[in-house]
Amino acid sequence: MRNIDHFVVGGPGSPTGRTHKVWNPSTGEVQAEVPLGDAALLDRAVAKAKEVQPEWAALNPQKRARVFFKYKELIEQNMQSLAELLSSEHGKVVDDAKGDVQRGLEVIEYVCGLPQFAKGEYTQGAGPGIDVYSMRQPLGIGAGITPFNFPAMIPMWMFGMAIAAGNAFILKPSERDPSVPVRLAELFVEAGAPEGLLQVVHGDKEMVDAILDHEDIAGVSFVGSSDIAHYVYKRGVAAGKRVQAMGGAKNHGVVMPDADLDQVVNDLSGAAFGSAGERCMALPVVVPVGEDTAERLKEKLIPAINALNIGVSNDPDAHYGPVVTPEHKSRIEQWIDTAEKEGAEVVIDGRGFSLQGHEKGFFVGPTLLDRVTTDMESYKEEIFGPVLQIVRAKDFEEAVRLPSEHQYGNGVAIFTRNGHAAREFASRVNVGMVGINVPIPVPVSYHTFGGWKRSAFGDTNQYGTEGFKFWTKVKTVTQRWPDGTAEADNKDAFIIPTMG
Ligand code: NAD
Repeated sequence: MRNIDHFVVGGPGSPTGRTHKVWNPSTGEVQAEVPLGDAALLDRAVAKAKEVQPEWAALNPQKRARVFFKYKELIEQNMQSLAELLSSEHGKVVDDAKGDVQRGLEVIEYVCGLPQFAKGEYTQGAGPGIDVYSMRQPLGIGAGITPFNFPAMIPMWMFGMAIAAGNAFILKPSERDPSVPVRLAELFVEAGAPEGLLQVVHGDKEMVDAILDHEDIAGVSFVGSSDIAHYVYKRGVAAGKRVQAMGGAKNHGVVMPDADLDQVVNDLSGAAFGSAGERCMALPVVVPVGEDTAERLKEKLIPAINALNIGVSNDPDAHYGPVVTPEHKSRIEQWIDTAEKEGAEVVIDGRGFSLQGHEKGFFVGPTLLDRVTTDMESYKEEIFGPVLQIVRAKDFEEAVRLPSEHQYGNGVAIFTRNGHAAREFASRVNVGMVGINVPIPVPVSYHTFGGWKRSAFGDTNQYGTEGFKFWTKVKTVTQRWPDGTAEADNKDAFIIPTMG
């Protein structure tokens, strides 16, 4: 069995005696153990981060960018092995794991353009002989706390932006699939980053609390479930930090009567069942508009879902693999029980699914639930599994209202050929990221990612210019260079200066 270490300068620190099992979800066996660190380990990581950060921040932006250029190359060279490692601990299929690495890599590509986006602002002649300029300076030490479902992409969203901006960074990845984050940190040193600039500490709530309370950590980015996101936000802010905390999701896909249903079924199958539904931008709720659309859609969805191929994570023919842990498998199955008790129609039932030859793996069959209504707990809460719920809307107005009134507001999609309806929907819906005939509208790295309502606490998004703002503080300089002709006893000096 493998032992996974922290990635902290000076070795792993004294063992706390607490460890966490890392499963191979395809076989149902424990494949590794990860130590759960404590505040003493964090103190050591922070001390090292403090030592190296000023020199990194003082390096000119081009030189910082060159480390990221090299890092990009190294990730590309290691793409296959990173994806296989990721897939073996998470359970998503290898091609999908490559997408996980790739979407993080795109943020690394973005920060290669750091000299351009970090230039600052300048106004010449803001007043008589006065110029004003603004610069963005790093916070100092940033920390990231990440979920299990994107163990490459989300850490790169955070440390890519934070470190490019001149910060040192401490990552606390999910204890369920911690190997890829460590590998990403090793490659960063190989790319030429000073040791200690990016460190990885493993742990659970104890480590998260230590991060939130640490007086030398100035900014915390969190992605995970909503209750924990809210807790992290409140505790971090109370400790005087800058915090962005992304939470759960329940994304709706609205299907208008004029939509191309074959295309919709194809898109929906991937978006609802890909990665076994363990994506914050999955589409677990479909909202056909009108009874006729609902019936036509259902008729096409059933054979498409029945044709899905569930396999071990390294099966190249599998559409999706197992879910992450045995506890998560039973939680998903319990949600299907709940939905049935609440009166939903179980059209396709994925409970009790077993893969021949891999009976101990954490597989859940694809599930389709119809006649789901807004009063059901199984609609209100996130299931995070391969379960698609049909909620029928009588008209467009109801279809806009459903995602708008849901507690989560991460992503939403509309499928239609009607540009007016799409435009109206995009402008009115109370959700942060919208897809128009795009089922998983994760914005590209030079835009920005973030949901609304209980899907995100704090006011700044991940990556893009928003991410850069999060990891920096603005300093504004107002300057003049007098020519030595000032009059003595000038009463104007006692009046609040204006540029008048
Ligand atoms: P999680 O909330 O269980 O864990 C996230 C992180 O919090 C982990 O690092 C974990 O160690 C830590 N943690 C766990 N329990 C804690 C506690 N009691 N106190 C403090 N920290 C704790 O989330 P998960 O199951 O790893 O990930 C899935 C969730 O993340 C889903 O809800 C999904 O929607 C959400 N997610 C959201 C986004 C987004 O951008 N909005 C993206 C990906 C995932």
